[in-house]
Amino acid sequence: MLYKEPAPIKDRENPFESMMSRFNIAAEVLGLDEETYNVLKSPTRQVIVNVPVTMDDGKVRVFEGYRVIHSTILGPSKGGIRYAPDVFLDEVKALAAWMTWKCAVVDIPYGGAKGGIICDPYSMSSGEIERLTRAYTSSLVDIFGPDQDIPAPDMGTGPREMAWLMDEYSKTKGSTVHAVVTGKPLVLGGSLGRVEATGRGVMVSALAAMDKLGMDPSKSTAVVQGFGNVGAWAAKLMAERGVKILGVSDVSGAYWNDNGIDIEEAIRYKNNNNGRLQGFQGAEMMDSDDLLTANVDVLVPAAVEDVITIHNVDKIQARLIVEGANGPTSYKADNIINEKGIMVVPDILANSGGVTVSYFEWVQNRMGFKWTLQRVNDRAERYMKEAFERVYAASQKYEVPMRIAAYIVAIDKVAMTYKYRGGF
Ligand code: NAD
Repeated sequence: MLYKEPAPIKDRENPFESMMSRFNIAAEVLGLDEETYNVLKSPTRQVIVNVPVTMDDGKVRVFEGYRVIHSTILGPSKGGIRYAPDVFLDEVKALAAWMTWKCAVVDIPYGGAKGGIICDPYSMSSGEIERLTRAYTSSLVDIFGPDQDIPAPDMGTGPREMAWLMDEYSKTKGSTVHAVVTGKPLVLGGSLGRVEATGRGVMVSALAAMDKLGMDPSKSTAVVQGFGNVGAWAAKLMAERGVKILGVSDVSGAYWNDNGIDIEEAIRYKNNNNGRLQGFQGAEMMDSDDLLTANVDVLVPAAVEDVITIHNVDKIQARLIVEGANGPTSYKADNIINEKGIMVVPDILANSGGVTVSYFEWVQNRMGFKWTLQRVNDRAERYMKEAFERVYAASQKYEVPMRIAAYIVAIDKVAMTYKYRGGF
């Protein structure tokens, strides 16, 4: 497994408040009625589990875990599981709601959920993580299910944990249930194209936004914060479309090259260097804070939350921000971004390529069939482009920034579904 370490959070706000402040604006613009507002603002279900796990030293430790289901009105709930020492319920609640909006924006038949376990996976052995994952799964076996709630990886988890989850769930049910979880290894029914799906969606939405702004990709420059799954793929695919990537960064620092960084070379280097860019010779090192405010056309934050804040937003020079990460912009910075006339492709749109291909994985599992990479990529691109156009049209219609427009599209779809289904 690649070396990873928890990222420093610079200016963390309460993520639930952050989500609600945007939700409130969109609800007001949309004229959402009070009943539906009240239904949507709270999760339908919040489960807290305490799971005992035997550690390698023979002692039993109890871990607190969560699964929050925000909504199932559009279909079974979908959302990742985060393993981190600082996971807290409000964060999981916000992330679960974000998943509802994300699935609605990209028009896939899922509700939103999220899970988390307070643990430090980087200081635990593989055996300890396996026992923890299995214990968490068995305590939530009545919640999870291919027609109920479908987990996926998030920070601190990956295909390995999803394989254990699928195995534990299947054992309890007495038969192999591939579709209970997505983001699985290919051999266990994972989908081709899932690994690069989020970065590919970031590229597709960046190009769609550049088109609206009249920017020529081959004459544009960009920086990408975060060089993990999302950032590295977004940088590679944008560079392939002609965008010059002048700067990239990861936990080891920020790297700059006036002539454009050779992204293929940077990825090769990172893959041979425990997943980090430290020591990369194809660029000069620069101050990480300056990367975000560099003189480029496009800024892609693809690392952690709350990196664009009231402390640096004034200095941002990019005309376009494409949010690969979840929640990289603090809600307090929104107004200044809007005043500066910067277009933001918000997280719930820009990084929804990942959940879209997760949906394709679930569809393939249920069909008992495997699609080609071409089919996965073509369909994911279509979903992303259509979602972008829906959000752009709403931003024009309601004269609101793209972020609020994305919430409007999502809330409208969920509210309409409630209206048709009725029942409260
Ligand atoms: P990852 O762990 O693969 O990569 C994270 C990258 O960010 C690493 O290169 C790390 O070194 C870097 N990083 C961490 N802290 C940093 C900091 N303070 N400054 C600069 N770089 C820093 O994670 P990922 O899967 O690429 O996810 C990145 C973001 O995208 C997260 O917000 C995640 O929730 C979001 N996201 C991921 C997916 C997905 O499919 N992987 C889907 C939707 C959203």
